[in-house]
Amino acid sequence: MNRTEPATPAAAPPGPPFSQLPLSAAALANLEQLGYHSMTPVQAASLPIALAGHDLIAQAKTGSGKTAAFALALLNKLKLDDPALRFKVQALVLCPTRELADQVAVEIRRLARSEDNVKTLTLCGGAPMHTQKASLEHGAHVVVGTPGRIIDHLERGHLVLDALNTLVLDEADRMLDMGFFDDIAKVAKQCPKDRQTLLFSATYPEGIVKLSQQFMRAPKEVKVQAQHTASQIEQRFYEVKNDERLHTVSLLLNHFRPVSTLAFCNTKQQCRDLVDVLLAQGFSALALHGELEQRERDQVLVQFANRSCSVLVATDVAARGLDITQLEAVINVDTSPDPQVHIHRIGRTGRVDEKGLALSLASMDEMGSVGKIEQVQGAEVKWFPLAELTPAPGGKLQPPMVTLQIVGGRKEKIRAGDVLGALTGEAGFTGAQIGKINVNEFSTYVAVDRQIARAALQRLSDGKVKGKKVKVRLLDEALGTR
Ligand code: ADP
Ligand code: MG
Repeated sequence: MNRTEPATPAAAPPGPPFSQLPLSAAALANLEQLGYHSMTPVQAASLPIALAGHDLIAQAKTGSGKTAAFALALLNKLKLDDPALRFKVQALVLCPTRELADQVAVEIRRLARSEDNVKTLTLCGGAPMHTQKASLEHGAHVVVGTPGRIIDHLERGHLVLDALNTLVLDEADRMLDMGFFDDIAKVAKQCPKDRQTLLFSATYPEGIVKLSQQFMRAPKEVKVQAQHTASQIEQRFYEVKNDERLHTVSLLLNHFRPVSTLAFCNTKQQCRDLVDVLLAQGFSALALHGELEQRERDQVLVQFANRSCSVLVATDVAARGLDITQLEAVINVDTSPDPQVHIHRIGRTGRVDEKGLALSLASMDEMGSVGKIEQVQGAEVKWFPLAELTPAPGGKLQPPMVTLQIVGGRKEKIRAGDVLGALTGEAGFTGAQIGKINVNEFSTYVAVDRQIARAALQRLSDGKVKGKKVKVRLLDEALGTR
């Protein structure tokens, strides 16, 4: 990424090694393989407590590695050999949204790879009850789900929690925001009293105290300060007139050339206008707003996360629950009137040990909001001149990948390996040219290197996936959708 001044990454000192923890050699080797060489601060603070079996309330910002902090604890306790427990749910994780539940399940499965046959099941709304019921009948050790759907299964007797030994409330603050207090209470009441309860949250509103008093036993508390603003995130402010705001976003993109940018607007209309401006200028941009159907939303998120869309434009509400790593930049197209929202927005870049770029546009009438941000972060913002935003060399900013959509997904029993095999086998592409593969229920999305997009489309259409002909199309404005 090009920057006017060279960034001096204040590399955070590495945290303590996982080998300090009472984990099996296989679990440690797996962590190493995943590139988890040391613990993040919230992991270092909470894992010793959680592994010792205590109840725990942990508070740390988004992107700080909370999932592994509870996942390693619950996995460590699973009894996989006990025949009486083999088909019983031993750990339950409640999450506020389906997307978060899916992400948590993915992380648990990655961390569970060192063990044989840990079964992790997600139970969320939007999928048919009967398929979930059937999956439950096959048995699962770990269930991850949203409160509403978990209750449905409990009430119908599909899900029994009498062998549960770990209950996790992930993103507890958000679940409370969404009005899930009573649902959480209902679920907790069905769990054995001597279970361990782990509560994770980015903030600590009053409801959390109420939750912990009712459902936890002498919980220990861990709080990791959000110390990212100074060290991990480079913040730059630009003063704009309202009528040059949207155009300035393209100047920022051409100057800094971030691969993935999340752009926040205060209104849906502003999101639409910005996407129009960016598309007209040849950028790859998609809007995320509340009016999208779940399927469309999934498709947008897949394209952004697999690096085949440069800019995701969203309101704060629409971006809720989004967890995308490798976000080079956040652009605050409008200044948020709420300084906490600003801090939350910029906290999405600069995760774990990467440095992020937070670019903010503010007009004269937003200076009051900027003042509030300065108060909350305890430092003045730094202003930069618009004149520095000269285009960097490299031509038009394009995402490195392109998404191919294959008609057919889990329903057709397509697996990621089948698609990878089809592209790297007969079709002759290298693994390095293939990016993320997402298999959804009815569609499969595969990211491929932009250079080979057309050829890959051709060869996938001519060839076979899992022995069958498939329909494939390109999801890309610039290359045209076919
Ligand atoms: P949170 O739940 O706090 O928002 P996540 O658990 O989603 O954060 O973790 C954010 C990202 O950091 C994930 O991509 C995860 O794979 C990565 N991560 C977690 N722990 C480590 C670690 N110890 N070392 C390197 N990366 C990690
Ligand atoms: Mg999380």
